[in-house]
Amino acid sequence: MACEMLYIDQKYAREMVAHALEDDPNECCGILAGKKGRVQKLYRMANVEASPYRYRMDPQELLKVYLEIDNSGWDIVAFYHSHTHSEAYPSATDLRLATWPEVRYVLISLLDKENPPIRAFHIENGNIIEEELEIGGAGR
Ligand SMILES: [Zn+2]
Repeated sequence: MACEMLYIDQKYAREMVAHALEDDPNECCGILAGKKGRVQKLYRMANVEASPYRYRMDPQELLKVYLEIDNSGWDIVAFYHSHTHSEAYPSATDLRLATWPEVRYVLISLLDKENPPIRAFHIENGNIIEEELEIGGAGR
């Protein structure tokens, strides 16, 4: 599937940052669901690793959320997680564990807690491709 630009409404961007700050110093993770690159719903997921260096979703929770997304006629648009001690760029671990080439990976960095950068990537065959990401305001 060709990738469209990713559009995240400001309320979801704020929600991801709030989630990241709540779980700090551990990484947080979650799912952005929607259609055609436009996020319609955010799911906070448990990081079963509860670690500052990595994240892993609970397979049962992932399946439950996946079914709900599918039943809503949406797709998983992106997986998001936070980096509490590094940039908003996929780590070596992220590369190794990226098994969903059709899904974007959204990274939130808490290096700057006042204004945490959010970036989106495709990870395919060990290649990191940055995606265009628009964070929108009201009126869209
Ligand atoms: Zn990571």
